[in-house]
Amino acid sequence: MTTTTAPTEKKSSDPVLPLSSAQGIAWDLGDLYQGLADPKIEEDLAQAKQRAERFEQTYRGLLQAPEGPAPEPLQQALTELEALSEQMDKPLIFAMLMHSAQTNDPSRGALLAKTREARTAINQHLIFFDLAWVALPDAVAQPLIEHPLLARFRHYLEQKRLWKPHYLSEPEEKILEEKQVTGRAAFVRLFDETTALMTCPFEGKNGVEKLTIQQTLAKLYDPDAAVRQAASNALTASLKEQSRLLTFLFNTVILDHQVDVRLRRFANPMEPRHLANEISAATVHALMTSIEAYHGTVQRYYRMKAKLMGLPVLHDHDRYAPVFADLPRCPWDEAAALVRESYRQFSPQAGQIIDQFFERRWIDADPRPGKRGGAFSSSAVPSAHPYILMNYTDKLRDVMTLAHELGHGLHQYLSRDVGYLQCDTPLTTAETASVFGEMLTFERLLDRYPEPRIRLGLLCGKIEDSFATAFRQVVMTRFEEAAHQARQEKGELATEQLNDLWIQANLPMHGQAVTLTPNYAWWWLYVGHFIHVPFYCYAYSFGELLVLALVQKYKQEGTAFVEQYLDLLRRGGSESPPQLLRRLGVDINDPGFWKLGLRLLDDMVTQAEQLAAQI
Ligand SMILES: [Zn+2]
Repeated sequence: MTTTTAPTEKKSSDPVLPLSSAQGIAWDLGDLYQGLADPKIEEDLAQAKQRAERFEQTYRGLLQAPEGPAPEPLQQALTELEALSEQMDKPLIFAMLMHSAQTNDPSRGALLAKTREARTAINQHLIFFDLAWVALPDAVAQPLIEHPLLARFRHYLEQKRLWKPHYLSEPEEKILEEKQVTGRAAFVRLFDETTALMTCPFEGKNGVEKLTIQQTLAKLYDPDAAVRQAASNALTASLKEQSRLLTFLFNTVILDHQVDVRLRRFANPMEPRHLANEISAATVHALMTSIEAYHGTVQRYYRMKAKLMGLPVLHDHDRYAPVFADLPRCPWDEAAALVRESYRQFSPQAGQIIDQFFERRWIDADPRPGKRGGAFSSSAVPSAHPYILMNYTDKLRDVMTLAHELGHGLHQYLSRDVGYLQCDTPLTTAETASVFGEMLTFERLLDRYPEPRIRLGLLCGKIEDSFATAFRQVVMTRFEEAAHQARQEKGELATEQLNDLWIQANLPMHGQAVTLTPNYAWWWLYVGHFIHVPFYCYAYSFGELLVLALVQKYKQEGTAFVEQYLDLLRRGGSESPPQLLRRLGVDINDPGFWKLGLRLLDDMVTQAEQLAAQI
């Protein structure tokens, strides 16, 4: 991949409160550049441009020769491509990080626009490479793929050729790439800035407060039902107000995707995502239908929760209410110590890597106004190291988010050695280390609190998170499938039509156990994944169930598993997910495989029911 490394994202809604013990915990991006005005930014862009021009002059003829390139010059070309891609992307990655930490600062927005434009211009000289490689006949390409000199780039070379049927001609690819900046990328940015700056009229005890979406979503975790209801009203009011724009953005992104699907001759809207995820449609189908077969587990849990909380009806906005209002809070320093310890206990080497994130300030945890919501870990570039952004609000679930993003960070850090072209995993395995890290920290949290009430509270939190990751993401994928299909059949869709599709997609999971209110119909409008990466969501379900199965293996195999697991992380994206997982003795093409994780979740619900019966 010569494209920019997008920051890996956490589920769509992570809360932000104005006050946090993480105030002042900000990252130091100095390992990339020394601020917005660093002359090195321009230098890197200028140098990358020169290198790209030289690269095109040197290698275009070589790759386009009918007999194909010899292994030696191809190896030199790939080595140079890797180095110059990193130099080309570094300014943009820096700008993205700067912008996400302060989206309302116009000078950061300007740097983002400038570096994106510059990168696009440079990349124009590189587009020929993949196209020429893909255009080579199999008889020429296959011996090169298998050549020992090219072993380091084997997966890159192999994977590119899978896209062969979907490439356009070089001039067409160049136009698409260039128009992207004012097309899709502009709409994505408009969505991000709009949702970051939206204010929700929250009616609390002190009158109406203007809250951000993140602050409003945080109120859904409030123990007071009236506060949750007010939050639901506030969010819905602001979504209604912006619904024309947000619906238009969604329609536009869907249409853009449909155009891509048609021009690139994909069979259906999900196919490009499966190909990028390096996974078959059959595996995704098995995953989604296995999950849907366990909707009964979700409903059992919500019925238990309603009873535990004494609620006659559990509304959608009650799903994240704490079962107990008095769960302890966790200040930043304690969270940091706990998460570091959980990684160290798993593996001293992993622990040392995690320590650096804190000691060398690679984490931005302070929830500031104007900062992007949610959380992510950006791999940045292999010559530097990953950076983590989150909004820490002292809740126990924020501890899990910290553990989650550090899992990504560990994975990204360890995979730097396979190089920039192959370090990134597809989305399917991108969540492996993050969800695994959450499980490690979760078990430590449980150890820390022996009281049954707190344990039940923690268990409920974990179950709800797992539901959000495994089940809710399948619901979101079903919604996207329906929306893309409806857009194709009926043309531009009205907000109300999409609201209906959203409710239809949500009904099977919630059944009679949760009452979906009219407000909830509007809540697809703020989900960033639908805009950022169509059909992103099922990768979360994949990751969650995969990890639950890996956790079982770790418990059975102990230290023997640890080395194999770290080895898997080190390999990054240099092998396909099925290949990588086979190294751990896992066959993801076996439909029965998904049941391992689902059964574990069902057991957790049973455990919660038993604890609830004791209280
Ligand atoms: Zn993640």
